[in-house]
Amino acid sequence: MPTATSPLPTQPVAARESQQNMLAYVLRHFWSAYDAEPLPIGYGGLYPEAAVQVVAQQTGFFGQATPYPPEPVWREWAGRKLPFFFQPKLAAELLTLAPGRATIHADVVANAFYLLSGWQEYFSPERDHHGRFPYRASVQLRYGFVAVPVVNYYFDLLRTAVEHVLGYTLPRRPWPHQAPFACWITHDVDNCRSGWKAEGKKALKAGKVGTFMSLLTRRLGGRDAWDNLDTVQREVAVHGQTSTFFMLGNAKPAPNGTPNADYDVRHPRYQRCLQRLRSGGAEIGVHGSIGTSASPEALQREIEQLPPPIRGNRFHYLSWEPQRTPAVLDEVGVQFDTTLGFAEHFGFRHSYCLPFWPHNFATGGCHGFLEIPLNLMDATLHHPNYLQLGPDDILPAVRPMLAEIEHFGGVFTLLWHNENFSRRNQLNGPRQFHALVRYLRSRHAAFVVGSDVLTRFAPTSA
Ligand SMILES: [Zn+2]
Repeated sequence: MPTATSPLPTQPVAARESQQNMLAYVLRHFWSAYDAEPLPIGYGGLYPEAAVQVVAQQTGFFGQATPYPPEPVWREWAGRKLPFFFQPKLAAELLTLAPGRATIHADVVANAFYLLSGWQEYFSPERDHHGRFPYRASVQLRYGFVAVPVVNYYFDLLRTAVEHVLGYTLPRRPWPHQAPFACWITHDVDNCRSGWKAEGKKALKAGKVGTFMSLLTRRLGGRDAWDNLDTVQREVAVHGQTSTFFMLGNAKPAPNGTPNADYDVRHPRYQRCLQRLRSGGAEIGVHGSIGTSASPEALQREIEQLPPPIRGNRFHYLSWEPQRTPAVLDEVGVQFDTTLGFAEHFGFRHSYCLPFWPHNFATGGCHGFLEIPLNLMDATLHHPNYLQLGPDDILPAVRPMLAEIEHFGGVFTLLWHNENFSRRNQLNGPRQFHALVRYLRSRHAAFVVGSDVLTRFAPTSA
């Protein structure tokens, strides 16, 4: 089912959001970032006795179904200029402290809710030719903050207020080995059999007949250059780490011609390979093929082709329809997902660098799966439609984003396709992957997989 041709529902399910729901949603995430007992926070007349108060901006915005608020005002906090929406006038002091009391004069609840809930994409009709909400339609692009986790900065303001009242520092939810932040290495396995064709074509174009012949010979001997999942595992193991392989369960192209897998995961050789990877410490997840983001039955069928247990998903082509997909994942009982990043740019699609529970616009609560946002995809770095970074430009370009994740103790989710572990890829290939991972190690990141993140953030569901 090509999502690009499916009409969006014209009437959003629930256009009205109460201040109570917004506060609950935002605080659930604020408190999940810390290892501490929640403290009441007052907001717009709710909990007036609370020692920490957030001043609510009177706005009719959340009673309507419009995607974008008016232009934000900008104010500095923690050394960073931040956008504040819904604030025609913002007090000179963002935060005032008195003995035993703290007042935040910016509406961090409305702002955090707007970005973290993905309000813009839920209510925007904009979709690209793959049916995705495009980066070009986002407030992150319009106001230039895609690589800044703005919601974490709002939370930092709230944390400062809470710590003032409590009189002590809130401990962060810890990562293994007291690491300052975490990194999750993932691979979407789209292709295992077409390396000879794709790389062979390039070799012929460059006049490298020998390379072409060697690719062809390997392929005829049953070893395509991209049939390399064991190699990928070894490359990650060089750093003493393990990673997650997201496998497609559909070898048929979508009706609009978009390719799915070039391999049949049901074949015993792939089933054996997955068992091997898992016994080597890898995590296996489902890579929902085109159409599954709108069909629980189709996603369920693909999960059943993989060796259980399958807890996590990332959709192929990062397919995601905000009005439909979260309910699909709930229905199938997927425990975590890691689709939500922009294909076109690295950074923070929900302006947040920790896992979160997607907002349920139909109920005003949360969906049942944990979203571990995707921050960087190999294909984004060098692609005619995305960025065109040279091989040595990658690390300098992404380092500021990594510094933000480190600063807030977040998790950095990296997608490196198995085909980009081919030695012939000099642009976003194994050399660039290893340089990134070496850098992350030098910053003392804890390397985790999705189930580890789930255990830490949703201990009852793991
Ligand atoms: Zn894919």
